[in-house]
Amino acid sequence: MSRPGEFDLIARIRARVSQRKDVILGIGDDAALLKVPAGKLLAVATDTLNSGVHFPVDTAPADIGWKALAVNLSDLAAMGAQPAWCTLSLSLPDSDACWLDGFLDGFLELAKHHDVALVGGDTTRGPLSIGVTVHGFVDPEENLRRNAAKVGDGIWVTGTLGDAAAALVQWKSGHHIDPFLRQRLDRPTPRIEAGLALVGVAHAVIDISDGLLADLGHVCAASAVGAEVDLDAIPSSITLTSMFDAGQRRYLMAGGGDDYELCFTAPPDARLAIAATAERCDVAMTRIGVIVEGERVRAVLEDRSEWTSQHVGYDHFG
Ligand code: ADP
Ligand code: MG
Repeated sequence: MSRPGEFDLIARIRARVSQRKDVILGIGDDAALLKVPAGKLLAVATDTLNSGVHFPVDTAPADIGWKALAVNLSDLAAMGAQPAWCTLSLSLPDSDACWLDGFLDGFLELAKHHDVALVGGDTTRGPLSIGVTVHGFVDPEENLRRNAAKVGDGIWVTGTLGDAAAALVQWKSGHHIDPFLRQRLDRPTPRIEAGLALVGVAHAVIDISDGLLADLGHVCAASAVGAEVDLDAIPSSITLTSMFDAGQRRYLMAGGGDDYELCFTAPPDARLAIAATAERCDVAMTRIGVIVEGERVRAVLEDRSEWTSQHVGYDHFG
């Protein structure tokens, strides 16, 4: 079989996308035409995944597809946005229909789950790189920003932290990678329902991509506050707890990245509302610290001494 050209690949994508009523014109013209609901703001986020940087080179195409969309939806979740549309910019080393079909399996599975329509994109030849832009809707009055943390707020996280970083550690060491940890690295769960449910409950929200302490640092900088995190309150999965000792876990949970859980702050009287939200969204929400005056993020151990790590968060140019 001859290699498909750019337009064959685009036709393959187009044949599989599902539509939404608010997509007036999707793939096929020079631009998509989309209808934003009256009274809403458009929330737009974009993230690129490069092979070997954002996923191990041996990652399955379907997992790359899932993750490329998941990390973007995670940004919408952190804004309390309802996802609607996405575009896909693909740079492929060669025209491989089989790779594309696998990629679309994962990408479109997640898109369908959140009713996100793929409305356009670009397809070029180059090193493997996937750029996705997602669009969603927020209420103009009520949305979730980084700059809204207040002194006295509790600091909370969804789910468990450190699993993805642990999978990477195992991958780099060349050892067997635990399947659960690998799944957490390859197929992060964007906390869309939690983000939507936290509108009106949480003050500041961010999704954890670079590592808890690094991302919480962004919240603190934007809100002009400090934070004190109780390291041993950070929730870990049963798998992480069984495979790594407490010292390793602290490092993975506080400094590792790729969690795509939400970190949010909320006033003390929001406890009951948060518990109800967690139950409704079927995701754990755990209080791990408090917002304080100042500008530093302090991670403290049980005896309240400060824990420091050389590596808190991933900086691409660091
Ligand atoms: P143009 O030259 O006008 O940019 P293209 O040939 O790049 O058009 O794309 C043709 C159509 O296919 C456009 O509607 C574009 O949005 C869509 N498209 C191209 N690549 C992708 C992709 N990877 N995913 C989704 N849609 C795509
Ligand atoms: Mg183009």
